[in-house]
Amino acid sequence: MSAQLKQLNQLEFNNTFHRLGETFYTEVQPQGISKPFLVGASPRVATLIGLEAKALKTADFVDLFSGNALLPGFQPLAMVYSGHQFGFYTPRLGDGRALLLGEVVRENGKWDLVLKGAGQTPYSRGGDGRSVLRSAIREFLASEALAGLGIPTTRALCVIGGEDRVYRERAETSATLLRVAESHVRFGSFEYFHHNQEEEAVKRLADYVIAHHFPDAAAPVKNRKNPYQLFFMSVIKKTAEMIAHWQAVGFAHGVMNTDNMSILGQTFDYGPFGFMEDYDPVYICNHSDHKGRYAFNQQPKIGLSNLNALGYALMSLIPREALIGSLQEYEPAFDKCYAALMREKLGLSGTQAEDTSLRDDLFRLMEKHAVDYSIFFRSLSAYSIDGKDTDLSSLFGRHEDFAHWLTRYNHRLKQQGEADEVRQTRMKRVNPKYILRNYLAQMAIEKAENERDFSEIDCLRTLLDKPFDAQPGMERYAEASPEWGKSLEISCSS
Ligand code: AMP
Ligand code: MG
Repeated sequence: MSAQLKQLNQLEFNNTFHRLGETFYTEVQPQGISKPFLVGASPRVATLIGLEAKALKTADFVDLFSGNALLPGFQPLAMVYSGHQFGFYTPRLGDGRALLLGEVVRENGKWDLVLKGAGQTPYSRGGDGRSVLRSAIREFLASEALAGLGIPTTRALCVIGGEDRVYRERAETSATLLRVAESHVRFGSFEYFHHNQEEEAVKRLADYVIAHHFPDAAAPVKNRKNPYQLFFMSVIKKTAEMIAHWQAVGFAHGVMNTDNMSILGQTFDYGPFGFMEDYDPVYICNHSDHKGRYAFNQQPKIGLSNLNALGYALMSLIPREALIGSLQEYEPAFDKCYAALMREKLGLSGTQAEDTSLRDDLFRLMEKHAVDYSIFFRSLSAYSIDGKDTDLSSLFGRHEDFAHWLTRYNHRLKQQGEADEVRQTRMKRVNPKYILRNYLAQMAIEKAENERDFSEIDCLRTLLDKPFDAQPGMERYAEASPEWGKSLEISCSS
């Protein structure tokens, strides 16, 4: 494998989005950050794009991904898009602080290299075009953590810090983040052209996305549906499944605006996201979201309304009835995926009529007793039939209502006629021991900001790469957050 890996200057580019023409973007050169230093890098993502791990340690790497140098294959551009933000349509957003540098060609596909925080663009709308170190670290850790959990997501190659200060609520360290994904086209990309009555551009963008990412929609088969409808149906399914994974693992995105919805159904644009800790269906991770529009339990519904906005933007390509019919597939796709994921988390094999009430009654108890969602499921993964369960019931204050639930659960497991170890092993593969708790990210951020010590970032990245494996010496990372860590306020400011 390593024989195929390349040095930085050997990477090959094929900038397909650039060739679409300037209707879709504006060419912008990056403005680098001063005195750049490496904060964190992912060897795994390097491998994904065909880069040797050695390259991450070079000065050239830091220069390139702080926006201070360019490779010959780069053709930097800022994409134009619009979107529904908190339910309201904003006619023009676009990359205000991100640039698509180029698309790396790889035998496993092509990868967009997007540099976030390298200066203003025509879409900056008064913003400074910069990112702060805190939010770059959060995106870096979260995208790699979700990848470790097996959840569709964009990836992050590195974070580079800089000397310049940027101003949010206070002066902060500037940084860049290099995001890697197969595509950066979003629902809002289609909305922009449709709302500007540029239907020809909607079609060109759809043709482009289908050709590169949805080949099945274009394959010629007799009596088949309109390729644009097949494409839309595929986006619906991928989005439903991504959100089902979020709900199963307890992840809240925080800003599900349509400009933050990837056309590939990947978790996209990490801001004030959070992993739910004490079970709370109306968990709001974004402190700027005063009305709880993007609360944890609203995410499935918001997914549908965002798809609705995408469908509206595709109305010149797909007949109205077909759009409506396709959107009706969303809820069943979500329900099917979510139910399957939760059955796996509970260790249930087969389906029985009472499984849904078993699950929902558990949620009610977890809410009542403020039980840590991830710790509960990980502890449940060690449960033995008819065994003592001191760890589990202590999570519920040894309350008898949980004892009653556990009796039902025990009964359900007995019917499976399966050895404990078989079920336990299966459950430990889907119930993570480690998640990216806000306070863990926060401690890594503070060390980086105050001491220029980046070891904790590396430690978390490595840990969260294998969140299902018990890792020796890392027990404390599996524990519940301290009280101060549960009340950290994370806002949209980044
Ligand atoms: P987000 O909430 O990160 O999805 O950003 C929404 C929009 O605001 C996007 O068009 C961003 O490019 C833009 N934006 C956010 N922060 C900045 C900034 N500091 N400078 C310029 N544009 C920004
Ligand atoms: Mg965004």
